[in-house]
Amino acid sequence: MNTETAGALCIVCAEATEEHTEAFCNACGGVYHLNQRADLPGKDCGEVWINEDHQALEFACNTCLYPEEAAAPGLDDILDLGEASSAVGISEETLLVAVEQGTLAGRRMAGGTVIVTRRDVVEFANRQA
Ligand SMILES: [Zn+2]
Ligand SMILES: [Zn+2]
Repeated sequence: MNTETAGALCIVCAEATEEHTEAFCNACGGVYHLNQRADLPGKDCGEVWINEDHQALEFACNTCLYPEEAAAPGLDDILDLGEASSAVGISEETLLVAVEQGTLAGRRMAGGTVIVTRRDVVEFANRQA
């Protein structure tokens, strides 16, 4: 294995691409997985199609094709207050007060744990700065 030939990281799934699975998105310019070899295993994190007007191949990654799905928070983006506190450097108490006052969107789970999304916490922290 020669690490020099390892591909760039896919902007959709963050895993390394290989030579035969590397494609460039026409919309964002990012590298994404697109298996171009039927005889080799590979994953697809986007699509390619022929533009009838220009008779050219067009490439797009799933992040650009399905922005709404990409915008929905994944599991990694759901934090409890302890994780949120260490992520943005604001105390858990301050975050809890903000959630209770409605200045930070959060949800209280059945066990009493309050969860927030990474994006909301980062936006909250930016407002505090
Ligand atoms: Zn990928
Ligand atoms: Zn893209």
